[in-house]
Amino acid sequence: MTETEDARTALLDWLKYAWDPELSLVQWRRRLAEAGWATPTWPARLGGRGLPASAASVIAATLAEFGAVGPPEGVGMSLAAPTLLEHGSDELQARFLPPTVTGEITWCQLFSEPGAGSDLAGLTTKAELSGLSHGEWRVSGQKVWNTSAHHADYGLLVARTNWDVPKHHGLTYFVLPMKQPGVEARPLRQANGHASFNEVFLDDARIPAGFVIGDVDGGWRVALTTLAHERRAAISSSPPVQREGRAWREAAQEALHLRAPYRWYPQRAGRVDLLMPLAIATGRGDDPHVRQELARAVTLAWTARWTAERAAAARKLGKPPGPEGSLGKLASSNVARAARAAHLAIAGPSALLAGADSPADGLIAEIILSVPAISIAGGTDEIQRNIIAERVLGLPKDPALDASIPFRDVPKNRG
Ligand SMILES: Cc1cc2nc3c(=O)[nH]c(=O)nc-3n(C[C@H](O)[C@H](O)[C@H](O)COP(=O)(O)OP(=O)(O)OC[C@H]3O[C@@H](n4cnc5c(N)ncnc54)[C@H](O)[C@@H]3O)c2cc1C
Repeated sequence: MTETEDARTALLDWLKYAWDPELSLVQWRRRLAEAGWATPTWPARLGGRGLPASAASVIAATLAEFGAVGPPEGVGMSLAAPTLLEHGSDELQARFLPPTVTGEITWCQLFSEPGAGSDLAGLTTKAELSGLSHGEWRVSGQKVWNTSAHHADYGLLVARTNWDVPKHHGLTYFVLPMKQPGVEARPLRQANGHASFNEVFLDDARIPAGFVIGDVDGGWRVALTTLAHERRAAISSSPPVQREGRAWREAAQEALHLRAPYRWYPQRAGRVDLLMPLAIATGRGDDPHVRQELARAVTLAWTARWTAERAAAARKLGKPPGPEGSLGKLASSNVARAARAAHLAIAGPSALLAGADSPADGLIAEIILSVPAISIAGGTDEIQRNIIAERVLGLPKDPALDASIPFRDVPKNRG
């Protein structure tokens, strides 16, 4: 038996006596974490079992198959935990990892700013050591596009701490307590009707001493870790599992809350799955234009899926990541746009209608309005093509004329 198969057997044995659906969600997750099954691939000293990365999905599937609740979803487990694991001090790890794993605290990502998205290293939110309290920081500035910031307990914040060095060298990565007077999160209403993001205004907000992840002025390296995990992160948008027992009831409530900002994410991916049924149901399958658009979207989607499956198979065999990894994000944008064109061809002008009488109860309009987001979130298509040009095709780097002069001297658009 392999190490992962052994672990699966051990987990099933453990669950037979440890799983109790009448525990509270937190009590159950603490039990799961103490046994190392909440985070099986983490090192033992941090509450894991040191299993290989490939074991994570097997352990998660085993928990689901047995009918036991697993760790929470969201920014905490997908971005905060891996960043703290790689760069956090012992104190930060001990303080923040356990309540993140049990879902007692939630997180948001405070990276983008009105003037810094693709060029994240050009951000201007300012953090300074407070003169009043030893080691405490004060931070002022504005962030934007921050998913779930209106209810998160902590923010993963990158701020500028040194203006006299080139832009990548003067950034520091902080844990920002969100529930304080100096932090205001204002939800932004999107064209598709949802309000997933916020503007976050920081006005002399306080960051306690020791809440720096990595080194002061060394935040860029830490941010790259978060960004690498962001490209892999996925959150489920399906309805939460409904099962008997207190732990499941509380998990369903939690999932409803955590998944709310992501409800429209399937629509932003284009809903290729709806194309054939809608073409048939509306009798549009014999329209030559519909057939062209539909076949184009479906073949693009299949090709993207096969490429992703090839990449996953190579990873399983322990092969180094190939170009497939960089192509995946771009392929999702291409698939979404092709699906949008096919939906427009099927529904015609009524695609723009919302409300009860509209095609698919307004879902088509939601697709049309949501698709642009997929080619922006987590890095735009243009940035992704730059990455492919440099790292896959070996072309020279994207010229960055401001990367070697002190940030203070970089010309800025004062709008
Ligand atoms: C659904 C969604 C969720 C998000 N969630 C979060 C979040 O939780 N936290 C957070 O901090 N941010 C979040 N963001 C913000 C996201 O990271 C930024 O929108 C993204 O990085 C692009 O930055 P920008 O919007 O400032 O566009 P800009 O960087 O201003 O880009 C404008 C245009 O210029 C192009 N461009 C820029 N530079 C280059 C270049 N070098 N070469 C060629 N073209 C270029 C871009 O491709 C784009 O078309 C989210 C965004 C979306 C859509």
